Amino acid sequence: LTDIAPSVFETVESEVRSYCRAWPVVFEQARGSRLYDEHGRPFLDFFAGAGSLNYGHNNPVLKRALLDYLARDGVTHGLDMSTTAKRDFLEAFRSAVLEPRALPYKVMFPGPTGTNAVEAALKLARKITGRETVVSFTNAFHGMSLGSLATTGNSAKRAGAGVPLPHVTRMPYDHYLDGRMPDFLWFERLLSDPASGLDRPAAVIVETVQGEGGINVARAEWLRGLAELCRRHEMLLIVDDVQMGCGRTGEFFSFEEAGITPDIVTLSKSISGYGLPMALCLFRPELDQWQPGEHNGTFRGNNPAFVTATAAIDTYWRDHALRDRTLARAGRIESALGDLLGEDGRAAVALRGRGMVWGLEFADGERASAVCRRAFELGLLLETSGPRDEVVKLLPPLTVTDDELDEGLGILARSVRHAAE
Ligand code: PMP
Repeated sequence: LTDIAPSVFETVESEVRSYCRAWPVVFEQARGSRLYDEHGRPFLDFFAGAGSLNYGHNNPVLKRALLDYLARDGVTHGLDMSTTAKRDFLEAFRSAVLEPRALPYKVMFPGPTGTNAVEAALKLARKITGRETVVSFTNAFHGMSLGSLATTGNSAKRAGAGVPLPHVTRMPYDHYLDGRMPDFLWFERLLSDPASGLDRPAAVIVETVQGEGGINVARAEWLRGLAELCRRHEMLLIVDDVQMGCGRTGEFFSFEEAGITPDIVTLSKSISGYGLPMALCLFRPELDQWQPGEHNGTFRGNNPAFVTATAAIDTYWRDHALRDRTLARAGRIESALGDLLGEDGRAAVALRGRGMVWGLEFADGERASAVCRRAFELGLLLETSGPRDEVVKLLPPLTVTDDELDEGLGILARSVRHAAE
């Protein structure tokens, strides 16, 4: 949207150039699936904080829990101290998320962001195995600090580092080679051959659906093959569920459908459920080899986030209603978006997705951005992803109503047709 966006902050001299998202309005309020600008104009939000708002803006149940906690002067900043808010979260997470799935994980609070969770996962894997390199995939996105950036595929993003990044071995993600090469055979050979020049990596880090990379969906059997490869060659499997976790694909964890159990899992974005910064690094108990103080940070105890996270788990993950609703809607979204595919190169050229995460690919970034621009004019917020920003990405809150979903899909259809004219 950059080309239509006058700087709405032109008069605010202290606004530093970190290049804010260029929607040309100033937002003031947010409720459910809608944001409102300062003049009260509503926008349907199908971006949802890049997957941070799976339960919508200011979800009333989570808000009540937060307001009650603040009203009784609950601890807000508690470093990493034990607090009742943290204990309640850990208990809810254990009883409603981990135990029903027979997942044995220990829970670590690595810092407030998804990047922090990825850094902790990579560091732990390297520390435990004593090996340097990790494997990541084409088009992967794992964060912006040096370790996580090194595992990110997009070279434009990596260029921002300006210095050599930690060593990473790149593998083709599922579908990258269009089925022209057996999935893991070549890598298996390199790992088994002492003369191949490939040092055994500490870990493999993967997204089950690449969010920033263009909504690329890995098949369940591909993920199972990857888990098997990791097991055979004693590499730790890290699933980065920062964007696809917390129900985005249907199940709480996006890897559940494939029936795999990663060694390490990263979560952030929607874990607090309220858009409050919070992240988790989960790992098998035998990997818990941190020494006290070896990996710490000031903001690991975001107690208001623990409170809303607990309310989110209690509200949405003690039964299957949200999961069932997400899975039931996937088909509806797929067929509505499927109608927008065309053969003349001006309409969408490909559609990919699972659950409530969908990507509509266009011939180039200009077309995708024209669609987002028109959608904005019609009151729908959308973002692009993919190596050339050519994929329009749909991430509505999981709590979106049927009417809102239809409204958003209708606006998108009109925007695609308008951009194709
Ligand atoms: N991993 C994945 C898969 C992500 O999508 C993101 C954010 N888009 C991150 C890590 C980094 O999270 P954060 O922006 O909170 O640091």
